Amino acid sequence: MTLIERHRAVLPNWLALYYADPLEIVSGHGRRVTDSTGKSYLDFFAGILTNAIGYDVAEVSDAVRKQLDSGILHTSTLYLIRSQVELAERIAALSGIPDAKVFFTNSGTEANETALMLATQHRRSNQVLAMRNSYHGRAFATVGVTGNRGWSASALSPVRVSYVHGGYRYRGPFAALSDADYTAACVEDLREVIQTTTSGDVACLIAEPIQGVGGFCVPPDGLYGAFAEVLAEYGILFISDEVQTGWGRTGEHFWGIGAHGVTPDMMTFAKGLGNGLAIGGVVARAEVMDSLTANSISTFGGNPVATVGATAVLDYIADHDLQANAAERGAALLAGLRAIDSPWIGDVRGKGLMVGIELVKPGGKEPAPEAAVAVLEGTRARGLLVGKGGLHNNVIRLAPPMTVTADEVDEALDALAGAVGSL
Ligand code: PLP
Repeated sequence: MTLIERHRAVLPNWLALYYADPLEIVSGHGRRVTDSTGKSYLDFFAGILTNAIGYDVAEVSDAVRKQLDSGILHTSTLYLIRSQVELAERIAALSGIPDAKVFFTNSGTEANETALMLATQHRRSNQVLAMRNSYHGRAFATVGVTGNRGWSASALSPVRVSYVHGGYRYRGPFAALSDADYTAACVEDLREVIQTTTSGDVACLIAEPIQGVGGFCVPPDGLYGAFAEVLAEYGILFISDEVQTGWGRTGEHFWGIGAHGVTPDMMTFAKGLGNGLAIGGVVARAEVMDSLTANSISTFGGNPVATVGATAVLDYIADHDLQANAAERGAALLAGLRAIDSPWIGDVRGKGLMVGIELVKPGGKEPAPEAAVAVLEGTRARGLLVGKGGLHNNVIRLAPPMTVTADEVDEALDALAGAVGSL
């Protein structure tokens, strides 16, 4: 049996695998990975935004190796872990949240489950606001707040959710409006949703500053700041899901929410922080973080291997000013894509190294998911890995490691122009 046959025999059908002939990646260096047949690819999806600083980074490997040399991968979070405390101090300071505390998890899902649990406990309400077209994870509450049909795997979530407009502009009812009018219309929608679909004592709003799975949708700067003013009137907490947008990836700001002129009550993070190691977490105002009155631990959350690795990643981002590189390379990528003339391209959007190409049937805005599959296969054939997403599965997503070079951006643009040109 081939590996894909064995995979299909023992792993669930709903595990989304890329490509008609799925890849097995066996090694990586820089922004390139090699598959089991020896073919090399430029990775413009960074795994799935997991590889913030690229593959085979000596500083991260050395930090992890030093931990392994101690003989301990992990004991228990019942004991003090120095690297966990130090990383928490660092993330609390980076967050800009006053009096912040950090709880570590192993994934973005667990981070958002924790944030939702904290908000609902703190506010004594299970009513939650979320954005249409959002994605927040795959467990009970997070799948419940996710506003994207393709990822809404369970209909039995314990939270009561109301969805608001704002995250996905290209197809929303306010698409034609100016930034200011769009923001005003979304604020009005938010107010109406609170007043007409909830009892008013809502726990929180959870939102991605740039929607990831939803297709790298960028709302106008300041939208969530305007939302926060309404939330404050009702005492509703604001959770910024930074699982994709954190650590400087959006270029202009260290956190995606930085573009909105508001400090959230909580931020959740995961993906790039460990550069492939499993680590996520929540950073929140102490008053909110400490609102649980019973014990609650994560056996592996904040384990020493993950926290020494994550510390090395944050050092590397700062030492190499990768936020600036994300801004510069992202702008070049966006400009290069906008110069590609194709009737299949409906929208090119993004910020920093989160860039989306929404594919449509020529002559209109009808989604073209089959074109996205063809571009995915066409770029692979040209030695480039990209991502796919969007409500209609018709968005190509580009998010290379933040160490990406100008030459690699040009190489990716050539492959993309070739694949789009073959549609
Ligand atoms: N939040 C966002 C914005 C995400 O993009 C994801 C994963 O894609 C998650 C949460 C869930 O993270 P994980 O897959 O690590 O559980």
